Amino acid sequence: MIAENIKKLRQSISEICRNVSRNPEEIKLIAVSKFFGAKEIMEAFRNGITDFGENKAQELEIKFDNIPEKINWHFIGTLQKNKVKTAVKCAGIIHSVDSLILAEEINKRAKLLEKKQQVLLQMKTSYEDSKFGISSEDELIRIADFCMASSNIDLLGLMTMAPLTDDEKIIRDSFSSLRNLMDKLNVQGFKLKELSMGMTSDYKIAIEEGSTMLRIGSAIFGERDYSKSWREL
Ligand SMILES: *Cc1c(COP(=O)(O)O)cnc(C)c1O
Repeated sequence: MIAENIKKLRQSISEICRNVSRNPEEIKLIAVSKFFGAKEIMEAFRNGITDFGENKAQELEIKFDNIPEKINWHFIGTLQKNKVKTAVKCAGIIHSVDSLILAEEINKRAKLLEKKQQVLLQMKTSYEDSKFGISSEDELIRIADFCMASSNIDLLGLMTMAPLTDDEKIIRDSFSSLRNLMDKLNVQGFKLKELSMGMTSDYKIAIEEGSTMLRIGSAIFGERDYSKSWREL
């Protein structure tokens, strides 16, 4: 099932790219494996997926410690300061930096591990229901400036989650505003390249609006069973 899902998804991504004259190789597919275990992760890995996303630090750490393959782990969830140490230990890229305090802690923890931590800054691009993310451009620039000046942080780009809605225009506006913000920062001298946006329900729109990293769970692994703990899987 997972093999077939990945094949279909790659075909779909290629087709969307073709329609908007983008090269599918510019787009990294991150399989969001939360709630799934080593068995499913290994099946995806054998089918060419090398990047996996997790939204809980503890779950990420257990998978990181126990799955031996060369996986690039992405931390995509809400990050608390006391979990930064774990995220820095395990994640190639942390997508969800949304405060100066977090950026400072990441720089500190990365320094201790002699690592340069790749990060994305998470923006709030809708004003209805999303609770997380940086909400103003001034704040974004303040945090981006800090990251650029930090020896152990490598700022790659921006991340957002579109609101949960069927209204395509609202989703598109959310993604295009993230792209516009990145362009604006780059005019000011930043060198950001990555836009982490698009999940199972909205990846088509995200690709059309310039996404370079898709975070896709259910289209690869199937529906998550929230009644189960991932520890039982
Ligand atoms: C769970 C999750 C995803 C993937 O969601 P799907 O709808 O299953 O594709 C993407 N991004 C974040 C931040 C998530 O927590």
